[in-house]
Amino acid sequence: TVRVRIAPSPTGNLHIGTARTAIFNWLFARHHQGTFILRVEDTDKERSRPEYTENIKSGLTWLGLTWDEGPFFQTERFDLYRQAIQSLIDKGCAYRCYCTSEELEQMREAQKAQNQAPRYDNRHRHLTEAECLALEAEGRKPVIRFIIDDNREISWNDLIRGKVVWKGSDLGGDMVIARMPETEGEAFGQPLYNLAVVVDDIDMHITQVIRGEDHIANTAKQILLYEALGAKVPDFAHTPLILNQEGRKLSKRDGVTSIDDFRNMGFLPEAMANYMTLLGWTAPDSTQEIFTISEAAQQFSLERVNKAGAKFDWDKLDWINSQYLHKVPANELVELAFPYWQGAGYEVNLEQDRAWLEQLAKLIGPSLTRLTDAVKESHLLFGETVIYSEEAMAQIKQDGVKEILEAVLESLNNHPELTSENAQQIIKQVTKTFNVKKGLIMRSLRAGLMGELHGPDLIQSWLLLNEKGWDKTRLQDGL
Ligand code: GLU
Repeated sequence: TVRVRIAPSPTGNLHIGTARTAIFNWLFARHHQGTFILRVEDTDKERSRPEYTENIKSGLTWLGLTWDEGPFFQTERFDLYRQAIQSLIDKGCAYRCYCTSEELEQMREAQKAQNQAPRYDNRHRHLTEAECLALEAEGRKPVIRFIIDDNREISWNDLIRGKVVWKGSDLGGDMVIARMPETEGEAFGQPLYNLAVVVDDIDMHITQVIRGEDHIANTAKQILLYEALGAKVPDFAHTPLILNQEGRKLSKRDGVTSIDDFRNMGFLPEAMANYMTLLGWTAPDSTQEIFTISEAAQQFSLERVNKAGAKFDWDKLDWINSQYLHKVPANELVELAFPYWQGAGYEVNLEQDRAWLEQLAKLIGPSLTRLTDAVKESHLLFGETVIYSEEAMAQIKQDGVKEILEAVLESLNNHPELTSENAQQIIKQVTKTFNVKKGLIMRSLRAGLMGELHGPDLIQSWLLLNEKGWDKTRLQDGL
């Protein structure tokens, strides 16, 4: 059975790259009726924060990516890692290295001077017990290094990239798997990423490790650890990076990178999940672009994930979002748009104004691309007073327009209740009385009511304003 995991580090809010990796894992798990596990890699004590863990959990939940097991926390599992490290030392696969940071720095400088890539030169690989004790007598503390054979060739059949081959000599020398001990009497200190990941993936019986291609070199190192620990190596799949417009890795400099950012920008979770599914994956029917994650899960396979980087395409995201947004019923749209209306400072009350807001949602719904547009598309309809654009002002000042608006106001007084029919009736009547084109009446009325010459449907807007009693004040103001 399939068991996959997402293993975010809580050193920041849920990142789009992590969310996309989570989606691929989730789709793969659901497709195979497998298990999707959440593991929080919080070993970096300085940079990990509980609020980031919360943000990651709520972001995944918002996207609909529910996990079947976890969250597990690496900080609660140190005993397991220590046992593994000890067993590697006992087997002769790992050793104590007493190099100081100055010595390591000198090593790197010397390599640089000879145009060599920086690497640890394995100088403490064969220390005798007496040498170790002598170094400790100097007050030095050891890190634990795992032996990497330079002559090894490591290869795996990547489920996305095909055969990948890595040379042992390209892995930077024997790798540190545990920091220096912090307290007296400890044999070694904090276990590090590559070791902890492998121990966890073994312990959690992970069958496929699906993660970003920035981990390819780690995979080569980790395969050696699996072997040394006598465990079965899982399958690996390295997903392509998400690229910005310039073809470089999408980063903080591109403005938005956390799922919260997208949420605040007015994207719906369904649209976001749909879009991210397509960041690197193509459906068997490549023309199909709109699907729920459950529909995508039925069709998902790693073979259809591209090797090349996936360019982030704002237009496509907007298009997908509008597809979802246009399907949201007015009563739900009100709930979704409400925070934005409130944020814009409009005085609305979700309970009292419910019916009015639903009408408004119906009116503007089809013009929305992002939820944030709810403000832009409806700002002309909020409030008793109105700000007139120059164009609108010029329209009102045209010869005869004042009289037209006065006539409209007067007929309004004869209609205790304004409906779509009698609004049409009023316009017809005034057109007749003044013997002008209907277009002139409509433009003038729009200018007077809305303060702009363009905007949502005029009759519907008028009705909404009328319900609040704002239409008369606005028309009067315009005169
Ligand atoms: N904590 C690692 C990261 O955030 C996990 C990588 C992995 O999936 O093994 O990139």
